[in-house]
Amino acid sequence: MADFVAKLDGVLDYITLNGTASLHPFFHPYAEALRAQLEAMAGSLLGDVSFQDRTSYFNLFRKVVAAAKVPFYGTPLRGLQVLGFWETRCIRFDEIYLLDMNEETIPPFRRGDSLLPFGARRALGLPTYLDNERRMEYYLDTLVKGGRKVHFFFVQNSERERSRYVEKLIWEGERRERRAGDEDPVRTVRYRVALQSERPEPIPKTAAVAEFLAEFRYSATALDHYLACPLRFYYAYVLKLEEREEITERMEGKDVGSLVHSILEEYFSPFVGRPLRPGELKTADLDAVIERRFGSLYGPDPAGSAFLMSLQVRRQLGRFLTHYQVPQIRGPEERGGSLRILGLEQKLDAEKEVGGRSFRLAAKIDRSEMRGDDLTILDYKTSAATAFLKIRFDRLDPAERRTWPEAVAGLQLPFYTLVYARSRRVPAADVHGLFLMLGKSRLGPRIEFSPFDKEDRDERKGQLEIMEAVLDALLAEIADPARPFDPGLARRNACERCTYSAICGRM
Ligand code: SF4
Repeated sequence: MADFVAKLDGVLDYITLNGTASLHPFFHPYAEALRAQLEAMAGSLLGDVSFQDRTSYFNLFRKVVAAAKVPFYGTPLRGLQVLGFWETRCIRFDEIYLLDMNEETIPPFRRGDSLLPFGARRALGLPTYLDNERRMEYYLDTLVKGGRKVHFFFVQNSERERSRYVEKLIWEGERRERRAGDEDPVRTVRYRVALQSERPEPIPKTAAVAEFLAEFRYSATALDHYLACPLRFYYAYVLKLEEREEITERMEGKDVGSLVHSILEEYFSPFVGRPLRPGELKTADLDAVIERRFGSLYGPDPAGSAFLMSLQVRRQLGRFLTHYQVPQIRGPEERGGSLRILGLEQKLDAEKEVGGRSFRLAAKIDRSEMRGDDLTILDYKTSAATAFLKIRFDRLDPAERRTWPEAVAGLQLPFYTLVYARSRRVPAADVHGLFLMLGKSRLGPRIEFSPFDKEDRDERKGQLEIMEAVLDALLAEIADPARPFDPGLARRNACERCTYSAICGRM
């Protein structure tokens, strides 16, 4: 920690000497307070502590700094004074402007206490929300009475109401008999807000972009981006703009996803290439893999959200093994066959000719297996929601471009099925593509989901042909130098929650 702190100190020095931050009037109080925290950290028992991973240093630093206080001394009185609300008592003001006089801001206290109910707090002699509200009212009253002229500002609309203190003042004013000619104490200021944002313009393809697209390795995710909005594909894959990775203590969904994939890969790898037997699948072995994987990422004793997540993963994958995997093996066994894993986390490449152009396609198949004579590819999902994986064939017309983004929520399974079939030289209709929804609360055979018909081979063949036509047309459209990246082709509501909305101006 001492070494880490010394490096941070160096960063602070660098910013002070080389940046413009030190010109800001508040830079020095904050920089000094930060330096004091750093010195205290380096000189404390933490100085000798080392962590296994870099994130932990930043997490600790953030916690220590968040608890620090920056005092703004009230004397000598000169220049701008920053005062806390409580510190204004006993001071007389000519004019006071109080912003945000809305409920939940002033007073900001929540009525409920998730740990101790109101009655218990009162019985124990602890302050309740009523005490806090009375205290706030007292300070506010003192401040208002100490001002010659006081302005309250509040927002009033269907979602926000003015503070109870404002209500009280108005009520008291109305109770006092108003003299003739008195002004209404509330004046309204209305803003005209144009919430309509500009429509982004299509972006033409330059010769360099066209060349890049000809060499690009197309994945299902890239094509999903394009189908959702061509401009989003442009930002993500041509300009390679990514969201900044935040260092957080919480485990993000994608962290859990990759961890679960790695656990299942390690657990099933000894069984690849031979029939799976129910007796061989032991929960204790799975637990050992889970512990090892969590340990390698979060240390031997994971804490906080990593600890809770390890318990949840252990419970969920344990049930996956007993309620899903074992019955899945028994099915083919009862028909005189077996379930045999062919591969795990296989990276596959395929070439595809479309309209005289050759495209490179890449897929990563979580697991492929033979269930008796049925060739199956599986994709693990740690969520339970299937809405973003569905294909509405009843609304999909391959000849009508505008139907594609609305009818096809996800291209992953058609894409994987076609790449797998092509790279293994088998008919696509013989490949059963399935998602396993591991996030479902009830784990059993029903966690399998496919956007295709699972029973009827001819029906599935027809659906795959439709999807291949859509994929081909999308590839041709992306690579066509004459067609710009057109946001007009975006899925309805694609801009909501889009990472690129700020760049696009659609915020
Ligand atoms: S904000 Fe809308 S138009 Fe812009 S990239 Fe995202 S989805 Fe496309």
